[in-house]
Parts: sequence; structure tokens; C-alpha cells
Amino acid sequence: MSPLLLPSAYAALNVVTTTPEFAAIAREVGGDFIKVVSLARGTEDPHFVDPKPSFIRLLNQADVLVEGGAELEVGWLPPLVENARNKRILAGAPGRIEMTRGIRLLEVSAGGIDRSQGDVHAAGNPHFALDPANGKIMAATLAEAFGRLDPGHAVKFTEQLARFNERLDRKLAAWTALMEPWRGTKVLTYHKSYEYFAARFGLEIVGQIEPKPGIEPSPTHIGSLITMLKAQGVKLVLMEPNRSRKTPEFVANAIGARVVVLPILVGGAEKATDYFTLFEFNLGEVVAALKGLR
Ligand SMILES: [Zn+2]
Repeated sequence: MSPLLLPSAYAALNVVTTTPEFAAIAREVGGDFIKVVSLARGTEDPHFVDPKPSFIRLLNQADVLVEGGAELEVGWLPPLVENARNKRILAGAPGRIEMTRGIRLLEVSAGGIDRSQGDVHAAGNPHFALDPANGKIMAATLAEAFGRLDPGHAVKFTEQLARFNERLDRKLAAWTALMEPWRGTKVLTYHKSYEYFAARFGLEIVGQIEPKPGIEPSPTHIGSLITMLKAQGVKLVLMEPNRSRKTPEFVANAIGARVVVLPILVGGAEKATDYFTLFEFNLGEVVAALKGLR
């Protein structure tokens, strides 16, 4: 190889992700051989990201666009991609990567997609990144895609993927042990953000403040929810950082539970800076709240 063809910074793959946890995993797998930026901030609702003019420029220059899929971004991404006029990231292009690939989605309706009453989870629950086991599937998808788009570094991507998987396996074992004493704890959530998280770590979700994903509750819904929660003995109300605390606190007070704000994206809390600390932080918050109840 001529010295002029050696890998250099300007040759790095330009990766844009819709949300920060995809960027965090891309960083683990891509290392120094990619540049990555997330459109959404960690404190935003991934269904309703505020589009900024700078997004068009980022998308225009991207070699790779990583999206969740399962309609997570259907409310905001399509017009941005259209305006970016970049054929590398159009649907079906090699640079367009969907993180749902290989993921077993929860809550997929047997009757097909039904968006009635504004349900934003019509294609199944898209918050699968909150199960670390899915993190490994996403990392593999990214390593394969980066290797295909930058074959010169494919071996590096494979090595970095292996390191990420080893570290995640170790952490997952520790996290599972940490949560073992709390298996079966009943929780209420605001949005259906924590289905994968709860399934992985043994929490039992008994209901949501939202009557349907994306729909705010009526006083009647809250009233019947409180009756049900009292009967169930619910201990925690889990809520996303992008929601108002008002209703969760009202409900928690009524049933003697605690409100816990759990980021659903990397960057949703100051300490949730990467894919690992997202779980460290969330599990720490859950355990601290549960210990406080004893
Ligand atoms: Zn959602």
C-alpha cells in the first residue's frame, strides 16, 4: 500500500445516528475509524425530536445513517433525509442502517400496523436498546456495516466488537446479580419505554400513565389507574426525563410509591454518558429507590 493510501483521520466514516445510544454503540465498535454524531439529545423524546437546520447539513455529509426503525423516528426523520439529498443514506442504500435488524421486537400486533388514536408504537415497541443483550445485536449490525463500507478496517471493527461484547457480558452478569433481590417488583411507567429493561432485569410493569403510547391520560384514566395500582402494591413509578413530573408524582403520592426518573437514551442523565453508564445509572437509581422503601 502506498503511504498516501494509509488510513488517516479524514478517511474516517462519517456516521450520523438518530439517537445517542446508537451513537454510543457505534463509538465502541468504530473507535477512531469513524466520526459519529447523534441528531437527538439524550433528554429528548425519541419519537418527537426537534428538527434543527443543522441536521440537514449533517445528513448531507453522512456516509452512514443509523436509525432505530420500527417507526421510532417516523414522525421527524423522513423529511430531513429527503431535504439532505444524500443518496448514500436513502432507504435501501448501503449506508442506511436499521438497528431493529435481528432484534426480537416486543408488542408487535398480530393484526399488522394500527396507528388508531395516535399510537406511536404501532409497529411494535421500539425501545429495545434498553436491554443490554440487544446492545450486542446492535453492535454486531454496526460492525458488519462499517466493515462493508470501510473494508480496510473490517478487522479492527471485528476486534472492537469482540471487546465490547466481552465487557458487556461481564457487566450484564453483575447487573443481573444486583437486581436479583428485587425480581418481581411491580412498577408503573409513564410511557412504554421500559418493557425491554424490565424484562431483562425482572421488574413487572403493571401499567402506564399514558393510556396508549403517545397519548396523554385523562383524569378518568388516572383515577382507575390509582385504584388498580393500590390493589397491586406498586412500589415505583418510572418516568422518562422528557416528561413532566406532575402526574407521576400525583399518582405516586396517591399509592405511596416513589418516582424514579430513568433516562431511556444515553445522555438522559449527566452520569449516563455511554451505553454502560446508562445501565449503571438506571439500575443504581432503581435499587436506591427500592432500598429507601424498605
Ligand atoms: Zn415509545
